[in-house]
Amino acid sequence: MNLALLKDSKGILFSTEFLLTIILFVLIIGIVASLMVKTDEKILNSIKTNNLESYSSKVADSLISSPGSPENWEKLSNFNNVIAGLSIQNGNKEVLLNTISFKKINTLKSNYNTLISKNIFNNEIKSSISIYPLNKEINPIIMGDEINNDENFNVFVVSRMVKCDFLSELAILSLNNENKNENYLNNLCNHNTLNNLSHENIEEYNWICKEFKISKKDLQYNDYYLIFDEESTKISGFWILDNIKRISNDENNMNNVKTDLNSYFEENLENNSELIFYLHCKIPTNNKNKFNCVLVAIPKEMEIDDLNFSYFTFQTCQFILKTTYN
Ligand SMILES: [Zn+2]
Repeated sequence: MNLALLKDSKGILFSTEFLLTIILFVLIIGIVASLMVKTDEKILNSIKTNNLESYSSKVADSLISSPGSPENWEKLSNFNNVIAGLSIQNGNKEVLLNTISFKKINTLKSNYNTLISKNIFNNEIKSSISIYPLNKEINPIIMGDEINNDENFNVFVVSRMVKCDFLSELAILSLNNENKNENYLNNLCNHNTLNNLSHENIEEYNWICKEFKISKKDLQYNDYYLIFDEESTKISGFWILDNIKRISNDENNMNNVKTDLNSYFEENLENNSELIFYLHCKIPTNNKNKFNCVLVAIPKEMEIDDLNFSYFTFQTCQFILKTTYN
């Protein structure tokens, strides 16, 4: 009886020790396992992180140094199969490195979800693109997802310096001191052969003249403006606009940054399907280096808040791509 009890108590004792050992063992295994999982997560995260970081810089470089495919993708209406690229291709199809097209930027902005979020990041990544011109007269362009730097420390920022053409291709005439008065001297100015209107070679002034053609049809689609840079409005210059059928010598003061030319063209194209016009600029010789002017044709559907000269020249900008996990 006693023996049995002893055996029993021994048995209980044994199983308590055994239980304790098992609990300890399980605890240790658990701790080790959780440590291993944490390390694995860390490794996984850093792989993901490294991938997104390097992938983002590859995406940024490809956007600014390739024209995208297919060619002229910005003119398409469906972007499902487009690989976006913003580079400008010149007439010989050479890609201008780190020079991006304003037209492509605008198409990218209106179709960001398809072109960037879906086609490039497979809807797995949040991203945004910002283009900040160094010239403060031009508004920055911002597109894509809202990414808050404070909330998530895994935000990757890729920054590149680029040039953007903005609206320079809408300038049908560009006049500055580099043009000199060779057009006048080479008979390309309609005043050249007219004695009473000839641009006398007074030392005080330099004449810069250029001809251009506008049709009635052009007028239906575009608004025309003569735009001077700020400096040019302070040099006491003059301009004359006339055409092959109605020659004029009326000098206008060069003191407005922007002049609307639509009514002049409408009036003169009323009975002509197209005409050759001449813009003559009379620039004080001592300030000839400060003269800069463009004559621009703005498509009627295009809305631009404040047209200024800077929009019609290439501008250096900071291109920023931000990415983070969804
Ligand atoms: Zn002239």
